[in-house]
Formats: sequence, C-alpha cells, structure tokens
Amino acid sequence: VYGEVKVMSLEKQIYDKMSHLPAARTPHFNIYYYQGGVAEKEIDTIKTQREVAYEKIAEYLGFTEDLKMDLYLFEDENTKAEVTGYIGAGLAYGKCMAEVYNAQCKLNPYHELVHIIAGYMYGDSVSAMAEGLAVYLTNNLNDMQVCSYDMDEVNGAYDEKVREFKQSGELFALKDLLSLSIGTEESKPDISYRQAASLVEFTIKAIGKHNFFNLYASLSSADINDAIEKIETAYKQKIEDIEKQWLEYVIK
Ligand SMILES: [Zn+2]
Repeated sequence: VYGEVKVMSLEKQIYDKMSHLPAARTPHFNIYYYQGGVAEKEIDTIKTQREVAYEKIAEYLGFTEDLKMDLYLFEDENTKAEVTGYIGAGLAYGKCMAEVYNAQCKLNPYHELVHIIAGYMYGDSVSAMAEGLAVYLTNNLNDMQVCSYDMDEVNGAYDEKVREFKQSGELFALKDLLSLSIGTEESKPDISYRQAASLVEFTIKAIGKHNFFNLYASLSSADINDAIEKIETAYKQKIEDIEKQWLEYVIK
C-alpha cells in the first residue's frame, strides 16, 4: 500500500542505514525502532500483533515456511522517505517492510505482510489483485481496531463504500481497474483499493480459492490483454459478463 516498489538493492540500502537501531526479535521479524519513540513504548504489543498476523495469513494461504523479515518502524513520513526513497506510510519489498509508527499513524499489521507472503508464494500479480488481496485479507483476518487512522483508512470495511461508489457512478470499469497501478494519484486510492478488495472477494467466491490463487500467480501487470484472457479462462466467461455479475454482487 502507499507505493510499494521494486528495486534490487533496496533491502540492503535500508538495512545499512537502520541496523544500528535497537531491534526486537520474534520468530518471524527483526523489528527496528527508534529509542524513546512510540514504537519502543509499545514494542511488546507490536511483537505480539505481528506474530498473530503472520500466523493468520500463513494459515489462510496454506503457507508452511518460516520467513524472517526486517520491519523498520519510523517516527514520521519524512524520515521514512529519506531512508527508503519512497513517500507514504507503508512499504513492502522482498522480505523488508517499512512503516510509519507514531501516535497518529499505526498501520494494521496485515496489509504489507500479505504482500510479502503472497509475493513470496506467487510472485507479482497485477496491482488490482495484489492490493485487493491485501485489503480483503486485512478485513477478514484482522480482529483489531486499527483502521481508525486516516492513513490506514483504505484497509477498513469496504462493502458499504464500494456500494456508494457504484451508486455515484465512481467505480472504475473492470478493464481500467486491472490496468491501474493502485496507490498512485490517478488510481484514486480511496476508490481503487476498496474496489480491488471487492473484486478479489467476488473472484474467490465465484471460482474458489484454489483457482483464484492459480489465476493470481499467472497474472502480470505487463500485458492487460493477456491478463483479461487469463481471467476469462479462469471464470469460463467473457469479461463483460464477469463485470456484470460482480456489479450485481456489489449492490445486493
Ligand atoms: Zn499494498
């Protein structure tokens, strides 16, 4: 969410700048934080929340390996941008996560972790499927009240919002949604994250979890026509019919 990126040496660049900080260790995370900051005060809660999130996501995805990740908690967006080179509250790349963590902004522990584990299992999918899965699973697995922060708002309950966007005619056409790089300004994040989550929910219901993940793994953002062909094959339906049924599902 908020501008995930792919740069080969990014993990090492961040590690080199941040590894002098104190770190809390859990079975799956090295959590780096600033001394005296909010994260340090709440580190025991953070450790528990991250491991619970890992367990739930792994269970849902049927993931049995143990990944070890580096999680960097920044006190503000500017420092995070300086260190990582990317603006926004969250970042997931390889086995590295960077997030803003302060009194006003605490990202839910699910979204970026879904990207890491799903990416490890299935590679990159189209943006709509990757972001949709992250928001969908955040909604379905997260039992904590962590979506009250503005910056994490797109991860909150999406059904009602998607219905409103449908009624106001603001939803993207399915082909356009699949072509978007979600999180960018042109993607209208308020709409596209939620609409993508709704698409993932509908697809899992329509073709089943197993077929969904086969489809997910086969999609790459490189070629939209190829993506549409694969979706039509998975659904055994034309894209126009899929879209029609999905919109009916949204307003029901
Ligand atoms: Zn994301």
